[in-house]
Amino acid sequence: MKIAYAKPGTSRENKTGSWRSMRPIPTDKCIACGTCVRFCPERCITFIERTDGSGKKMVAMDYDYCKGCGICANECPVKAISMMDEEEAKGCSPNKPVL
Ligand code: SF4
Ligand code: SF4
Repeated sequence: MKIAYAKPGTSRENKTGSWRSMRPIPTDKCIACGTCVRFCPERCITFIERTDGSGKKMVAMDYDYCKGCGICANECPVKAISMMDEEEAKGCSPNKPVL
């Protein structure tokens, strides 16, 4: 009899993005404080430059690894992250950083 099992490993080896039913979407309210970066259990949030030419930073998530737990949105002091239904959110955030 064959037994199916997953090889143990960190999220660096095992992409956890397929678990997600809710997607965190960073918004313009981000003040780049770094709180969500520190709290994310998958370490999949990083800083990127805004596309508005201001030279300021904001956050972006690597959706291959974000499992949609919502911790980032809960911890953000200025409520700059919206949690959206995964299907509705597809295509909402063009920012996919290379970590
Ligand atoms: S929802 Fe936020 S805290 Fe949770 S894994 Fe995704 S980016 Fe990290
Ligand atoms: S916690 Fe909120 S304000 Fe701070 S970096 Fe994350 S999204 Fe931006």
